[in-house]
Amino acid sequence: MDFSGPLGYTAKAMSYALAVSEENAAAGKIVTAPTCGSCGVLPGVLYYLQDVYKPPRIKILRALLTAGIVGNVIKTTGSISGAEVGCQGEVGSACAMASAAATYLLGGSNYQIEYAAEMGLEHHLGLTCDPVMGLVQIPCIERNALATMRALNHATYALLSDGRHRVSLDNVITVMMETGEALPYIFKETSRGGLATVR
Ligand code: SF4
Repeated sequence: MDFSGPLGYTAKAMSYALAVSEENAAAGKIVTAPTCGSCGVLPGVLYYLQDVYKPPRIKILRALLTAGIVGNVIKTTGSISGAEVGCQGEVGSACAMASAAATYLLGGSNYQIEYAAEMGLEHHLGLTCDPVMGLVQIPCIERNALATMRALNHATYALLSDGRHRVSLDNVITVMMETGEALPYIFKETSRGGLATVR
């Protein structure tokens, strides 16, 4: 397989997210962003954009701040806990944070940043948490790699618009909580259902 050109860029971004997730699975040092299971998305996106665009360090730090604000909004008005709302709260929140950070880094306005964050969470609504044997390895690791790509896509999409849109990030957080409350407990970090029980 030839991974040069556009496919190579895609593979690179995913590999960065995978590297962080593997570090977590090996009990190495990671930053919970916002949780251990979803720790690969934000660094995967930031490392990839740093690699490609080589922004000054201060812009990376501000992108981290942008992601942190989004994560804190979700945490304080909703949840980032897989045990509480399923994986939408973990990988969904990580994707929202990374989408916002990427949009900031690529020159987006506040409207575009909020739009990207909203998409990051919206398109993970309903995602169950069903880790095999309760470990943040399967299906978590793949989800990190794919959410990294989605975050980059959300940033691109938001930047193609003026950032104004119908459903706000606040709306999606409310819906995520409703969805999480309606999710059966077997899909919330219990390993009692879903992918966790596939043999
Ligand atoms: S599947 Fe569950 S344990 Fe894995 S990242 Fe998602 S919320 Fe965390």
